[in-house]
Amino acid sequence: MDLEITPYGKGVSALVRVYGIFGDPIEHSLSPLLHNVAFKVLEMNAVYLPFLVTAGNLSGAVQAIRSLELGGVNITIPHKQAVTAYLDHLQGDALLTGSVNTIVNKDGVLYGYSTDGDGLLLALEREAGFSPRGKKVLLLGAGGAARAVAFALVRAEAVELCLVNRTLQRAEALAEQIKDKTGFAVQLLSYEDPALVGYLGETDLVVNATSVGMHPQSETAPPLPLDKANPACLVYDLVYRPPETELLKKAKKHGLKTLNGLGMLLYQGMLAFQHWTGVEPPEKPMRMVVKKFLETELSY
Ligand code: NAP
Repeated sequence: MDLEITPYGKGVSALVRVYGIFGDPIEHSLSPLLHNVAFKVLEMNAVYLPFLVTAGNLSGAVQAIRSLELGGVNITIPHKQAVTAYLDHLQGDALLTGSVNTIVNKDGVLYGYSTDGDGLLLALEREAGFSPRGKKVLLLGAGGAARAVAFALVRAEAVELCLVNRTLQRAEALAEQIKDKTGFAVQLLSYEDPALVGYLGETDLVVNATSVGMHPQSETAPPLPLDKANPACLVYDLVYRPPETELLKKAKKHGLKTLNGLGMLLYQGMLAFQHWTGVEPPEKPMRMVVKKFLETELSY
């Protein structure tokens, strides 16, 4: 057997730049796959690692970005909002939404960004040629992802935005926050409201930003009467595990255009990569590695 004698792995030296992701749980994150393939393709002396960070350890973990001189990290569930308290500056969407998924370390000064919203906009544009400008949108959910999506759609000049969420108070709170920050009046409906059918019949884009349909609950779908949807409507599901959710299957059955959340995952990651390195990440291999992984992981 040929043993390669390298203390840190092929292409990695003692001066390696370390990036990572903080979350709890963290073992299912696909971000290490995305970023490590980019470092490899670009022959950069860098690695990306998952860090299990509990709520109690969050402030210490953020301080460690400075003391260990990490290049930057991604932030995921459940820390996207809490982490803002420990950063020096919030930029762009992070300022508007109060949520951060990317931290950049510039000589010990920590900048927080949110790339989720732009990730969705890029996915819509590049994968479906869809611009929200002047469009009518139905958004399911009022959690962290829905917040990023809602602000991005308003920024991209959607003409109408209607929120539907299981817990109405959460949707109301989000609508109020959007009104305060942007002046945009979001509409609210419940799944049971008969007006939902009428709205669906005129909507250009349905976005599922709930976790309904996500593995292992993959036999479930949000209760939408898609048979009444505008036939030209695009249905975007943020969920990408499984690659084709029940919602997307139903939408396809009714002749609607569909996209899963892989593109948003990819583009939010590529935008984070650019913030950290200033380098254009290699889209093709990043997309390929995640797509392949997702196609095989649930088929065992
Ligand atoms: P979150 O903050 O926990 O919010 C979960 C949302 O789902 C809430 O609106 C919740 O409604 C709703 N929900 C959960 N179970 C439900 C049920 N049984 N029936 C109806 N509604 C239900 O989570 P998140 O961070 O927003 O993430 C939401 C989904 O988006 C996850 O599947 C996540 O993997 C995905 N995501 C994808 C990307 C991407 O890049 N593609 C990025 C971020 C997130 P209540 O308010 O009533 O609890």
